[in-house]
This record gives sequence, structure tokens and C-alpha cells, in this order.
Amino acid sequence: MSGNPIFPDLKEKIILVTGGSRGIGKTICESLCAQGATVVFSTRRGVDEQEKLRQHFESFGGKSYGLSFDVTDTAKAQEQLDKFIKEVGPISGLVNNAGIARDQLIMRVKSNDVDEVLNVNLKSAIMMCALLSRSFLKAKDVSIVNISSVVGLMGNGAQTVYAASKAGLIGLTKSLAKELSSRQVRCNAVCPGFIETDMTVALDEKVKLSYLTGIPLGKFGKTQDVANLTCFLLSMSSSYITGEVIKVDGGLYI
Ligand code: NDP
Repeated sequence: MSGNPIFPDLKEKIILVTGGSRGIGKTICESLCAQGATVVFSTRRGVDEQEKLRQHFESFGGKSYGLSFDVTDTAKAQEQLDKFIKEVGPISGLVNNAGIARDQLIMRVKSNDVDEVLNVNLKSAIMMCALLSRSFLKAKDVSIVNISSVVGLMGNGAQTVYAASKAGLIGLTKSLAKELSSRQVRCNAVCPGFIETDMTVALDEKVKLSYLTGIPLGKFGKTQDVANLTCFLLSMSSSYITGEVIKVDGGLYI
């Protein structure tokens, strides 16, 4: 998504993307900058790497700011976000993207893994919405996008914990849409299928092949496929859409 912006209202927006360092989050930041948006990305990376990413995003257009926090560290996130909002302005868009997978059979699941996956994938998204709720009420045309997964809709063997965290994001999405609609704050979920990133590259070739045979479009998705839908949902082109759960999966769910 480059060249002339197709969602011109994104130029007026300040959008926070969690987990901007790689994969889907990185492409979302690039695409938003290409639309002229102001992108605030959070990473766990050091200052040098963060500055490189910031410059990389600005090479697409727009404006970019990096914040350093682990999404599970609510106190640090709050401190950094409060400072940013005071200095730059209210945040009018949020993409809860940071996520991890710890795939294993239910008989091997450990309590620590459950805590880790739920904290990163679900609790952090809830807390990010809570921390930014006041900023949202001061901003205009706010849109929140939660990056869930088709696995949150259809389940998957050896992904019980991950699937539960992604299904939780759908409950969050629909509840927030109901709670905040009267303030013109929208909230939607995107459910990617199999997207080529670090998260999927590590999978066994046999597992990949079995996924591929289940995808009617006959190919894996690209990070850009998810970024395109996310930009649409953040923009006013989707101004009458809220509480929706939209799949980007090449037909995997059918
Ligand atoms: P990657 O593993 O490529 O990237 C994950 C991103 O999340 C990285 O930027 C990583 O930062 C960040 N992150 C992870 N944990 C934390 C944390 N505790 N605090 C801050 N940042 C964190 O994953 P994808 O790009 O593939 O996935 C992005 C989202 O899309 C996830 O929520 C995932 O569940 C979802 N998804 C992905 C699918 C796929 O097929 N790839 C399918 C369906 C959903 P760092 O670089 O510091 O590790």
C-alpha cells in the first residue's frame, strides 16, 4: 500500500501499534506511514534498534515515534503513554498486535505458559484499551483493531491456550464496541489465517503443508494482506463498522 493515500483521513490520526518490530505489526506501521498517519509503535528493543525502525517507518511517509515497553508491563506502558500524550496529543487509533504462541498438547501445558500467553495476547490488549480510554474520549473518530486469529474462531489442536487468548480478544472487541459506541469509538477484530512471519516460519514442513491443503486460495497470506484490512478499519472508510470480526485467511475457515 504505497503511492497516493487511499484513506486520506488517516493523516489526521495518531495510531499506537503494539509489537511494531517484526511481522504483521511492522507492515501495519509501514502501511500507516505510507497513508501519512502518525504512528507510535511499541517495542521491547533497545534505543538504537528503535531509532532504526522509526527512521524506516518514516521513509514510507507520515511521522513515527517509538516507545519502549513490554506489553505485560502495565505501569511502564502507562508512564510512556501518558508522557507521549502530554507531549504529542491524544491517541485516536490502537492496534493490539503484539502476540506470542506456545503450541503444545494439552497434557504438556504448564501454568506458566498459560500465564504468559494470556498476559501477552489478551490481558495486555485489555489494559491498553483501559490505559488509553481517557485519551480516546478526547480524540475524534477513534478506531481500535484487535489482531485475533481464525484459531480463536475455529480452535486448533495443540493451540488450546493460544486459541483461548484469541477467542478472548473477540469478547473484548464486541464488549468495547457496545460500551464505547455512544462516544463514537469503534472496535473491530481481524482474524488472520496462516500468514508468513517469524511466528509461522518455524513450523514443521508437514504442518505447513497440511495448512496449505486447507486453504481454498492455495497460498499462505502476506503481512500486507492483514495490514490492508487494518488500515481500512482504522480509517473513516469503515466509519459504520463496529463490533465486527473479519477473517483474512484465504478461505481457511470456510
Ligand atoms: P511475530 O512473532 O512475527 O511478531 C510478534 C511481535 O509481537 C513482535 O514485534 C514482538 O516483539 C511482539 N511482542 C511479543 N511479545 C511481546 C511483549 N511481551 N511485549 C511487546 N511486544 C511483544 O508475529 P506475527 O507478526 O506473526 O503476529 C502478530 C499478531 O498476529 C500476533 O498477535 C499473532 O498472534 C497474530 N496472528 C498471526 C498469524 C500468523 O499466521 N502469523 C495468524 C493469526 C494471528 P519482539 O520483536 O520484541 O519479540
